[in-house]
Amino acid sequence: MAKNTYFNYRSGVLRENVDVLIVGSGPAAWTAAIYAARADLKPLVVAGFLKGGIRGGQLMTTTEVENYPGFVDGVSGPALMDILEKQARRFGTEILETDVQRIDTSKSPFIVETKKGNITAKAVIVATGAYAKKLVVPGSEEYWNKGISACAVCDGALPIFRDKELLVIGGGDTACEEALFLTKFGSKVHVALRRDQFRASKIMAERVMNNDKIEVHFNHQIESVEGDNFLTKAILKGNDGTKKELAVSGLFFAIGHTPNSDFLEGDLKKDDNGYIMVEGFSSKTSVQGIYAAGDVCDKVYRQAITSAGMGCMAALDAEKFLAEIEQKVKH
Ligand code: NDP
Repeated sequence: MAKNTYFNYRSGVLRENVDVLIVGSGPAAWTAAIYAARADLKPLVVAGFLKGGIRGGQLMTTTEVENYPGFVDGVSGPALMDILEKQARRFGTEILETDVQRIDTSKSPFIVETKKGNITAKAVIVATGAYAKKLVVPGSEEYWNKGISACAVCDGALPIFRDKELLVIGGGDTACEEALFLTKFGSKVHVALRRDQFRASKIMAERVMNNDKIEVHFNHQIESVEGDNFLTKAILKGNDGTKKELAVSGLFFAIGHTPNSDFLEGDLKKDDNGYIMVEGFSSKTSVQGIYAAGDVCDKVYRQAITSAGMGCMAALDAEKFLAEIEQKVKH
């Protein structure tokens, strides 16, 4: 494979003819980089700051990750990202810290426009993740990560939530799944949803309704939260104006996610919610040579480990694609 070339003053291009350019800096991106680097594809990771203000994705804002295989005693989200990045660097991954603004998929190689300049790449892996939507109410910023989280599966088992009353906001499948998951740890789980019915699938809604540890508050929205060092209280407001105080130590927003895909346009197919669509059990997008991995294309599993697995798939798919185009050039 051709070596990545550096800034070309004549063309104004920052890097030319990169074999594999990976956009993102979460588990999908680093795993793709590890695989691509070990395949001697000299990947370039473009790690942006656009959504979270820091690179590393959603794991940078989580505390303890206890379900990532290989870490018997758990690992903090930022530490895990640091380890994956170091592993990717070890095999020669190059990292450019900047945001990708647009990818021109109509040209081959693709033109990746970043804030620092344009890069041309033969294959691109998009692993830009998603962000959990959260509501901002009085007190919510203060108690973020001090009782408030947007991922029960990630944080629910933490000691601060054990045998305490917990509250989930939302009425979709995620909210139901999270509420059911939290019943393993909390003494009681409240679910507050803004309408008089769930958006979730019937089976999930029924499981929630039939669970003795869960109390559902239809037609209620979160109004404010209070606490001391940690969250201790949530105030709900009913659609009829009445208020309820809940003595909860945990509040989990489960009101949906937004994939970081708005910089992609043109031929790259996305669903109505902006998730990149991939072909079957693969990372192939609607544009040959562009692959997607992790939460930017996954609205179901959304775990660090599934994202890492998808990053591996994307690197293998990209490697195959590059081998095929190289073969064509030879003939
Ligand atoms: P959804 O968009 O399906 O549901 C979001 C929920 O949050 C809705 O109840 C919505 O209320 C509520 N909500 C949104 N904004 C606000 C707000 N500002 N204030 C209060 N409530 C709000 O998101 P999910 O994450 O639950 O699911 C996303 C997709 O992933 C779905 O297709 C789902 O089926 C799928 N999924 C599948 C799973 C599985 O198969 N195991 C597990 C998890 C998700 P309202 O209904 O009033 O709009």
